[in-house]
Amino acid sequence: MLQFGLAGNPNCGKTALFNELTGSTAHVGNWAGVTVDRKEGTYKSKNGENVGIIDLPGIYSLSPYTPEEIIARNFIINDTPDLIINIIDATNLERNLYLTTQILEIDCPVVIALNMMDIVEKQGDTIDIDGLSSILGVPVVPISALTGKGVDKLMEVAIKTASKKRDGKSILMNSPIKDAIVQVQTLLEEHNIPHVVFNAVKLLEADSISLENPLLSDHKDELKAVLDKIEENDIYNDVEAIVADLRYKFITEYCSPRINRKRAVTELSTSDKFDKVLTNKFLGIPIFLVFMFLVFHFTFSESLFGIEGLPSPGVFLQGLAESGVGIFSDFVAGLLETAGASDWVFGFVIDGIIGGVGAVLSFVPQILCLFLFLSILEDSGYMARAAFIMDQIFRHFGLSGRSFLPLLMGFGCSVPAIMGARTLENDRDRKITMLIVPFFSCGAKLPIYAMFTAALFKENSDLVVFGMYLIGIVTAVICAIILKKVVFKDENAPFIMELPQYHCPRAKSLILLLWEKLKGYLFRAGTVILASTIVIWFLSNFSFRLEMVGSGSAESILGVFGNILVPFFKPLGFVNGNDGWKAVVAILTGLIAKEAVVSTMGVLYNPSIGGDALEDDIARQALLGIIAVSFTPASAIAFMAFNLLSVPCIAAVSAARAELNSKKWTAFAILFWICTAWIVSFLIYNIGTLLGF
Ligand code: GDP
Ligand code: MG
Repeated sequence: MLQFGLAGNPNCGKTALFNELTGSTAHVGNWAGVTVDRKEGTYKSKNGENVGIIDLPGIYSLSPYTPEEIIARNFIINDTPDLIINIIDATNLERNLYLTTQILEIDCPVVIALNMMDIVEKQGDTIDIDGLSSILGVPVVPISALTGKGVDKLMEVAIKTASKKRDGKSILMNSPIKDAIVQVQTLLEEHNIPHVVFNAVKLLEADSISLENPLLSDHKDELKAVLDKIEENDIYNDVEAIVADLRYKFITEYCSPRINRKRAVTELSTSDKFDKVLTNKFLGIPIFLVFMFLVFHFTFSESLFGIEGLPSPGVFLQGLAESGVGIFSDFVAGLLETAGASDWVFGFVIDGIIGGVGAVLSFVPQILCLFLFLSILEDSGYMARAAFIMDQIFRHFGLSGRSFLPLLMGFGCSVPAIMGARTLENDRDRKITMLIVPFFSCGAKLPIYAMFTAALFKENSDLVVFGMYLIGIVTAVICAIILKKVVFKDENAPFIMELPQYHCPRAKSLILLLWEKLKGYLFRAGTVILASTIVIWFLSNFSFRLEMVGSGSAESILGVFGNILVPFFKPLGFVNGNDGWKAVVAILTGLIAKEAVVSTMGVLYNPSIGGDALEDDIARQALLGIIAVSFTPASAIAFMAFNLLSVPCIAAVSAARAELNSKKWTAFAILFWICTAWIVSFLIYNIGTLLGF
């Protein structure tokens, strides 16, 4: 099977093209750094030919400076794809071509996919495709990855091109450093080193990977002699800068004239005009907060814009889902009754399984609603601005704003966010980012907030949930500062971020994203959460002597265990009375998956003890009622904060373990999360109580 690699700058539409080609649903994000690892898929051509497609991380060059650059480069050099599709954002032609000039140096067939042509056309610009193609010496195909226009043509050309071998060519061969390149090249050719042109240029640039190429290890001295000789000439003092300069010169001299721009480059585009306001030094943060508040208002408010009786879409959906779960539960209860099920079977199915899993499922539509709003902000390009604004804050504290990109992903799920921290060049920033990622409240923590706001904060649910997110962010910033001052003490890496153009969010990508999220929730509800619910039900109904002691009894196995840990949580306010252990157990099950906190509470705080199931609607109200009397506002927020900040779920911990690649650091991370959660909850509970909540 043919293998094609997709290479290009961050945000040029690689993943969009990958999805279009392979029919998969990888995350397309309107910011740099979404794809850090490579993804593979298969394209089926019209004549039934299969082509393997590899989506590589976005890169600006093939230098060995960032992990993505190394992943992409290693793939291209070592895995020898049959062809490289170099995707270029046609609205940013010049900058994108910088990478192209390097890719062309590799011995591999190349086709250029000129993406975002829909925008170019809309702007009224034209590009001389044939002219560009003849200058670069490879086919250029205009496409729009989003609409799919030109994609079939691209693959047709690509498959044809892949059958012909291609030797790397450098645009530097028409430059003053040509002689030096030829000298190194000759030496490499003598020893049969592949990708001679590419390696020759990189060696001149004193590129670390090329210098350490094992194929060269026997010829190190010889190579050094050649390089030293070249360096004697003054113009070769800083080859890297010269080469970069030559590449840009080539682009502006030969490629730029191929674009016919309707609007002068100096004129402000619509995007720039928006940015004047949205990323304004003073307005940026207030606007960001207003947007975020609106998102939460639309998802969690009982009365939209203060209008009594008009629920927000999120609350409305939640009501529907709740009735759905209720009807289902009644239906099953009816069936069990007809079948003459025993009390404990009844309790197990209705209180255990449906009570636990149903408690989670009933919040899913509301959470999808939140994700819809967040994805609209993301796809429109606004979230990249949010990162930019955050960078300005982070910078004051000496942190790289680049961390904010993986952190934003943390709002979805900590696992990809922790992996996303790979994009940070600097080891310190990477570690700090991984440590604070879980503080960016992930989707699985939302059911916890939804349940508590429904029980205790009906009036201000939007504010409370918004507040939880803020507590997470503020804690993250404070911890980052402390970690930087205490644990890591070294210099800062500069941060350059590019802001994508704003565009209208596309229904197709939004629907795909929501569908992925929904599948994720349903899958987890049907697997880990169902399993943990069953285990929790048994452990909370049976004593060590395996006698049924009734749900929620302190003599149950869980009760005994939970009570051992109660003293640790006592100062945090949420373990009062005989039932305190239940909150402890809920926190522990949150380690499996954060939704399990809710399903566990659904089982443990269940009002119908001993299988005497109540009507479901009433049961749910009663469950919320019990929670409302078991917690004070202060202890409820302390409880939510503890779940937000403490050790994330197993999946996130193992991702962190893999990325940190050290037992010591993983242990440190776990301890760090527990301590932070404990301290913040302690402060919230005690200050809140002092203030009379
Ligand atoms: P990657 O970082 O290269 O993988 O880029 P993505 O595939 O994530 O795309 C970045 C952004 O550009 C997303 O918001 C896409 O919706 C958008 N995009 C990608 N291709 C096109 C296109 O052909 N036309 C337009 N208008 N937008 C596109
Ligand atoms: Mg991508």
